[in-house]
Amino acid sequence: MKAPFRTLVRTRAWVVILVVGLLFSSTIAFADFLGGGWPHTTGSNVDLWYMRNGPDYQGEIGSAVISWYSTPTKLYFHETTNYSVAQMVYYGQSSTQSWWGLTVPHPCTTTGNCTYNWTEEYVNSRTIGQNNSFRAQKVAAHETGHGLGLAHTTASGVTSIMFQGDLGYNTPQSYDISNINTLYP
Ligand SMILES: [Zn+2]
Repeated sequence: MKAPFRTLVRTRAWVVILVVGLLFSSTIAFADFLGGGWPHTTGSNVDLWYMRNGPDYQGEIGSAVISWYSTPTKLYFHETTNYSVAQMVYYGQSSTQSWWGLTVPHPCTTTGNCTYNWTEEYVNSRTIGQNNSFRAQKVAAHETGHGLGLAHTTASGVTSIMFQGDLGYNTPQSYDISNINTLYP
């Protein structure tokens, strides 16, 4: 049903003001999120089943998952060897691609606003280096952040696992934990 013209104008003006207001108040926060995420009810835990595959970095991937699990968030990770129930599927293996790590959310694109069914997290032993355990755990923790719905951090003056490249740390920082709590309140 169409609204009378005058009401429509008034409604539109109000919507524009609201959108501008949201942009000014939340630009920095929105920049940290891909747009999608796991099903979640406010106040309840995000229970996720993860699975480790591939010949490389089994220990590092396990440590990376625990590094998110042990934060004051609602994230709960459980390990499974059953592919059909696994939601976050990790691959520690050599890839001919140039990246250190890659995350593929399903059925979403990496920028889409949709609900994840499962995600794949790849950690590339060819580019990271077989003996670089510290970097491998950083990459696995970083890809886990993507798999939870976090984008690359654009803020300066903070520490965040969602920066690319080598950092002086390889675990989620308070900035990342805060973002997860925003995404899954
Ligand atoms: Zn990344």
